[in-house]
Amino acid sequence: MSQFPEKGHPKGLAVLFATEMWERFNYYGMRAVLVLFMTKALLVDKAFASNLYGSYTGLIYLTPLIGGFVADRFWGNKRSIITGGIIMAIGEFILFFCASLYSTDAGLANFLFYTGLGFMITGNGFFKPNISAMVGQLYPKGDRRIDPAYTIFYMGINTGGAIGPIVCGYLGDTGNPADFKWAFLAGGIAMLLSVLVQKLYQDKFLVDPEGKQLGNVPDDSPKATLKPVFILIGLTALAALMIGLLYIDATIFSFLSYLLIGAVLVIGGYIFSDKSLTGIEKKKVAVIFTVSFFVVFFWSAFEQAGASLTFFADSQTDRTLGSYTIPTSFFQSLNSIYVVGLAPLFAWLWLALKKNEPASPTKMAIGLALLALGYVWIAYGVQSAVPGKLVSMIWLIGMYGLHTSGELCLSPIGLSLVNKLAPAKFASLLMAVWFLANAAANKLAGVLSALYPENGKVTQFLGYQMTNLYDFFLLFVIMSGIASLLLFLITKRLQTIMKM
Ligand code: GLN
Repeated sequence: MSQFPEKGHPKGLAVLFATEMWERFNYYGMRAVLVLFMTKALLVDKAFASNLYGSYTGLIYLTPLIGGFVADRFWGNKRSIITGGIIMAIGEFILFFCASLYSTDAGLANFLFYTGLGFMITGNGFFKPNISAMVGQLYPKGDRRIDPAYTIFYMGINTGGAIGPIVCGYLGDTGNPADFKWAFLAGGIAMLLSVLVQKLYQDKFLVDPEGKQLGNVPDDSPKATLKPVFILIGLTALAALMIGLLYIDATIFSFLSYLLIGAVLVIGGYIFSDKSLTGIEKKKVAVIFTVSFFVVFFWSAFEQAGASLTFFADSQTDRTLGSYTIPTSFFQSLNSIYVVGLAPLFAWLWLALKKNEPASPTKMAIGLALLALGYVWIAYGVQSAVPGKLVSMIWLIGMYGLHTSGELCLSPIGLSLVNKLAPAKFASLLMAVWFLANAAANKLAGVLSALYPENGKVTQFLGYQMTNLYDFFLLFVIMSGIASLLLFLITKRLQTIMKM
């Protein structure tokens, strides 16, 4: 049988599915215990853990810009994926050592903690953009199967995202802080499995419709960039830079948000001052910037999952089921479980609506509204709770269902929207803007999670005071609610430009 049936999908998709699944197992499994490890083993407070979570996940979305660039010019996708995967596995193993000796050598554990995270950031930068790019390359240009292929790939992401927190949580989030190390070890092993699958099958199955290997080193790549010494020095320097940036942003001066905003402004200025762009092209670019702005509100509220919502699951939620207490980290797999369950439903819904299927900006506004609704649900849950008693887990379970429905309206559209609207000349640069928006959103998620009010602590954001969890969740209702409303108001205008 040919590897490229006209119907069905090439076998390469199964390889990318498995590689990505194990990598996301590693990423989300580790993230499920990250703030718990910080607050229960490293004994930092919730605000510090939140800020560091934001710095870490913010940088995670920044390095793909570097990894994508290096792959295009020098290494090709395959080499970048393998290299990134190995660096991430090393990162997890460093965290394993950190979690093994935090009680005996706090100084060394602290150093290893930043080092491990810096390696995760560096490795992810080479892995994530390149594996995503390879999915589309398996098909002829414009093939109808590309969109479904990305949907299948998204299932791979979320299969890993569902299993990772459960396995890593089961092993590491036991109530004994000395066990966190097993979560990192499991993450590292999963990452090695990802690299192994990729290495074993990439040359045979990652081929284009003509059977030509994909993702190889570009023909015009300077030979020096492939020398092991060069690679080792380059990667060490990059990892050192990431460790330094993470450390500075989390402990000395929070510069990341300014850097990201600055980068977007510079790129915007550069593109809009280009004389060769037509008026219509500029309008389309403006749509990309507008939509990127709105997704910041979405992800910064959504990504509370790994921070404030984990604190909430840990200390305010009744997690007992009969005589069993569900580990806090398990709640982080709910989003992925919902994606696997709900994605087919949404796919069916859009098809069933036929001509009435909402346009992309409208879907995004609906996504933001569903996110706001999720926070309304949980805000109601904490308000109606009996003081001093833990709340039912139904509030978190319902909220994640609404959040995921929002994600399924908003997330799959983003990348294709950028692809469609960007003038060819600035395609990569505008993709960078999209990543920068995600990075900014994740950083902001950490900053907002640091406002988690507890034990009489009063926090405030832009003049809005929060004295309890109800006020805190209401902040996200207001934020995403207003963003949704504004986006609804301008959808007509955006749609007109998109059709130009
Ligand atoms: N959960 C998805 C992933 O990990 C999407 C996350 C995002 O785009 N912010 O790939």
